[in-house]
Amino acid sequence: MIAVANQKGGVGKTTTSVNIAAALSMHGQRVLVVDLDPQGNASTALATEHRGDVPDVYQVLVDDLPMADIVKQVPDMPNLYCAPATIDLAGAEIELVSLVAREARLRRALAAYDAIELDYIVIDCPPSLGLLTVNALVAADEVMIPIQCEYYALEGLGQLLRNVDLIKAHLNPTLRLSTIVLTMYDGRTRLASQVADEVRAHFGETVLNTVIPRSVRLSEAPSYGQSVMTYDPGSSGAMAYMDAAREIAHRATVA
Ligand code: ADP
Ligand code: MG
Repeated sequence: MIAVANQKGGVGKTTTSVNIAAALSMHGQRVLVVDLDPQGNASTALATEHRGDVPDVYQVLVDDLPMADIVKQVPDMPNLYCAPATIDLAGAEIELVSLVAREARLRRALAAYDAIELDYIVIDCPPSLGLLTVNALVAADEVMIPIQCEYYALEGLGQLLRNVDLIKAHLNPTLRLSTIVLTMYDGRTRLASQVADEVRAHFGETVLNTVIPRSVRLSEAPSYGQSVMTYDPGSSGAMAYMDAAREIAHRATVA
């Protein structure tokens, strides 16, 4: 189970969650994407309904609704499933505070979920370090951090890493930072390669060899409710996410 986290917005969390999940599913792996962002961008990208009256992750976290009641199969993607987020989830951050085992509600809900035998669960986190992200980090085995190849890329990363350490120490001892993925790489700029070098120098093997290029196709696909692999399989973004998923699957078998 992989939590895709970075408290910065717009770094490619959702794009990475959706496309890695789709790529893994196209390799025959059964994958569930849990949309933990009240904006519901992952649900949109996976063509999964998330209007206000659709049961969503909020009701799982706050009202103890079984996960099976909200999970939907993604249209035209036989091995891919989505647990949608509606705008209701925005209230969860506050409502969770007063609940019992508030940090472990997602873990509990996923542990009880046995409707489908899954190979991977990918959790798309909101751009904050609040209780929703804490729930993701408590549920997950691994953290994947997308880093946008631009100025200030590493700013705020220390805070995220400290949170991961705190959760490891107190709530989820087996959690590990498994993967850093460089996103929105623009090969024409020196800045992008400088950021990439800096991240690799700092995090070594944790950084995927595959770098996700800046690609218009990646930003267009969600408005068609598609992953980039079905929207434009030959695009640089599609090929990069296929490679990234292959690396991740390979790591999982080696580990
Ligand atoms: P986050 O979930 O971290 O907020 P998103 O995945 O939603 O970030 O990405 C932010 C914006 O950038 C979106 O509009 C998305 O379509 C676009 N985007 C993400 N990755 C790329 C990329 N590699 N190339 C071009 N646009 C991208
Ligand atoms: Mg997002």
